[in-house]
Amino acid sequence: MEEQLVLYNSLTRAKEKFVPLIPGKAGIYVCGPTVYSSTHLGHARPAVTFDLLYRYLLSLGYQVRYVRNITDVGHLENEAEELGEDRISKKARLEQLEPMEIVQKYVNIFRRNMAELNTLPPGIEPQASGHIIEQQQLVRILLDKGFAYEVNGSVYFDVERYNEAHPYGILSGRSLEEMKTNTRRLAGQEEKKNPFDFALWKKAAPGHIMQWPSEWGSGFPGWHLECSVMSTKYLGEVFDIHGGGLDLLFPHHECENAQSNAALGHPSVRYWMHNNMITINGQKMARSLGNFITLDELFSGTHPLLEQAYSPMTVRFFILQAHYRSTLDFSNEALQAAGKGLDRLLKAWELLQGLNPSGVSAFDPDAFENNCRNAMNDDLNTPVLIAFLFDAARMIQQVNEGKAGLTREDLDRMKSLFRHYMNDILGLKAEKRPETRSETVNELVELLLRLRLKAKREKDWAASDHIRDELARLGIEVKDTRGGYEWNFR
Ligand code: ZN
Repeated sequence: MEEQLVLYNSLTRAKEKFVPLIPGKAGIYVCGPTVYSSTHLGHARPAVTFDLLYRYLLSLGYQVRYVRNITDVGHLENEAEELGEDRISKKARLEQLEPMEIVQKYVNIFRRNMAELNTLPPGIEPQASGHIIEQQQLVRILLDKGFAYEVNGSVYFDVERYNEAHPYGILSGRSLEEMKTNTRRLAGQEEKKNPFDFALWKKAAPGHIMQWPSEWGSGFPGWHLECSVMSTKYLGEVFDIHGGGLDLLFPHHECENAQSNAALGHPSVRYWMHNNMITINGQKMARSLGNFITLDELFSGTHPLLEQAYSPMTVRFFILQAHYRSTLDFSNEALQAAGKGLDRLLKAWELLQGLNPSGVSAFDPDAFENNCRNAMNDDLNTPVLIAFLFDAARMIQQVNEGKAGLTREDLDRMKSLFRHYMNDILGLKAEKRPETRSETVNELVELLLRLRLKAKREKDWAASDHIRDELARLGIEVKDTRGGYEWNFR
């Protein structure tokens, strides 16, 4: 069945049959997080989308090499204009930690959240800072081939020169002419021949924490470079699928594509896949808008925009209910509806285990299987797949009520198909729902923490530690502050 899988290729803007480079094998590279802050809703969608792809390819029998990088250097604050500080460096300065402590802290949170969302870990998770030499080698190749130029210790990609050999903007549907009219030169970009040129290697300012020696002087690699280097290092100069969020299409993926074309003379990626964005109550998610929700806040219900906690499986199901190329609007109502829908499917699944065979089948497992497989083969159409699961859930309900029958053989097939699509493909599982945040719980925690404060004043350290440890055991994290304490659901 594998030859029937069709995927939407952002490069050709068309659905194409997925034909792997090497029969039976599939290589996927997905842009991972820049680990300078907590994992948020925006990370959850690509993670679930490409987990779905990974799971589906595995279920089709492919041997899959799934690579997802960790960006721990080179991603500047203003990514489009390449201005501002390195995000990790800045956080390290603010928190007075080593950059690697920042990286480790947020990698740990990311991995925990990914496991909570039941995404399978990638086979390789390379970090940019572990591939500095390879990145310098690619810069050298681009300089030798005349696609890059050095200015004052920094090296930039020469987009105009590249455009003479390969059309720049082919992936994002832009043209260089259009960019020439629309790109303004900003302060801080004086070194570049053109404002749309991008950094391959940046000279480090004095006092910059993360820098490495190079033939151009001490500096650090540009953000786009790492993905060209690490994808081809682990998957080969040509590989099957490159994924990421739509927000990465330009400039990040356009620049990656240009680097690979310039260095190798041919593109590296055969299928570019992009998941669409999550909006929050119709708005873009942004720290400045106060609607930036981390996954920990979502799972514990501790963000002011949240009416309750939403379990990881509810969030996963919410994401899967929309096609990955559609926009997805987050709201309390939508999440609550997703929770109810998931409950119905999980209840049907549970009911199915206890059903007794009876009479003639009112439901055809072959048709069900075909429908589910066709939905997945059609560019991973999960909303359609989920609609067929709801149909099956209704049938299960009818059999349970004695209004319809199912033979022993069909019952066994339904059990295995339901488990396959719910669990293996969609990655959904039953879970203990977290308690809704309630005022009573908040007041009880406050009461305990006031008692703890009193114990501390009386130097009763044993009691104070006991309260903190017991709260930690219940998933409540207590931080001592100058004014007393702060606490949070973990
Ligand atoms: Zn990337």
